[in-house]
Amino acid sequence: MKDRALLPEAGQFYKANLHCHTVLSDGRWTKEQVKAEYQKRGYSVVAFTDHRHYGWHPELMDETFIPLAAYEADLNEPFPPSGDFQRVRTYHLNFYDTHPETRTGFEAQQPPQRYGDLAALNEFLAGKEAEGFLCCYNHPYWSLQNWQDYKDLDHVFAMEIYNHGCELDGLYGYAPQAYDEMLRTGRRLFCLSTDDNHNVYEPGDPRCDAFGGFTMLKLPRLGYAEVIEALRQGNFYASTGPEIHHLVIRNGALEVSCSPVEKIYVVTSGRRCLMELAAPGQTLTGAAFPLRGDEEYIRVECRDGSGRRAYSNAYWLDD
Ligand SMILES: [Zn+2]
Ligand SMILES: [Zn+2]
Repeated sequence: MKDRALLPEAGQFYKANLHCHTVLSDGRWTKEQVKAEYQKRGYSVVAFTDHRHYGWHPELMDETFIPLAAYEADLNEPFPPSGDFQRVRTYHLNFYDTHPETRTGFEAQQPPQRYGDLAALNEFLAGKEAEGFLCCYNHPYWSLQNWQDYKDLDHVFAMEIYNHGCELDGLYGYAPQAYDEMLRTGRRLFCLSTDDNHNVYEPGDPRCDAFGGFTMLKLPRLGYAEVIEALRQGNFYASTGPEIHHLVIRNGALEVSCSPVEKIYVVTSGRRCLMELAAPGQTLTGAAFPLRGDEEYIRVECRDGSGRRAYSNAYWLDD
C-alpha cells in the first residue's frame, strides 16, 4: 500500500453550505441575508440551490465569499387523487454549475417525470454532467427512498450523508447506511453534509435549520474554480461539528487527526470496522489504524460527546 495524503496537505480549509433556499423559492431569507448570516459564522462558500430555480448571483462574489451557481431539481412519483404528498417518493438532486460565467439565459431543467424509469433519469443526469454540472443526490431518508430507488443512479458525484433541515423535519437527516449501500455497489461517490436551510425559524430557535451541516473544502486559495476543483477531486470532508485535520496513509496505516472527539471509526466495504474509543470522560484527537489491504474502501467517522459527527469521503485503496 503506497503512502498517500487523502486530504491535500497544502492549502487551507474553507467552510461551505452546499444546499440553501432563498425567497427565490420557498426560503425566507434573501440571497443577501444568506451571505451576511453565513459570513458572520465563518462560512466562505454557499451554493444557492433554490427549487427549480437556477441561482447565479455573481454580485455576491468577493475575495471572501463564493456563491455557487446551482439549483435543486425533483422527480416525483405520481400524486394520489387527494394530492397528498405524504407518501410520494421523490428524487431531489442538486446541480452545481462548474462554469456559470459562460451561460446566458440558462433555466433550471427538471428530469423527465417518469418515476421508476432509471434509464431516463440517468440519461438526463448524463446530459447535465456533459453541460458542466456536478450532481448531488439529496436526503434519501426524507424522500422515502430505498435501495431500489438509488442503487442504479449514475452521474452523481456525491450524495448527502447529512441534511440538517431534514434532521429537524423528523430525524431524517443522517444517511450513512445509504452511502455505504451506494459504495458497496462499486459506485465511487463523495458525501456532503448540508443545511438545506429555509429559515422559517430565526437563529436561536431550536427549529432554525441553518448552520447545522457543513462541508469543509481544502483549497489552495478561495476562488470559484478552486471550489469546483475541490468538489471534483473530493478534497473535502462533511461535518455537523467536529473537524478533521489530517488523513494520511503512511507505512500501511491510516492516520487520522481531528478536533477532540470521543470516537473515531473507520468503516470499510465489509462488516469489519476499525475504531479508537476514548475512555469515559476523555477525548481523542487522533489515531492510527493499521490496514490489511483488503478493505476496498475506507471512510472515517469522528463522533464527539454531543453526538455530532465528521465524515470523510470514502477512499478506494486501489485508486
Ligand atoms: Zn430537497
Ligand atoms: Zn432543498
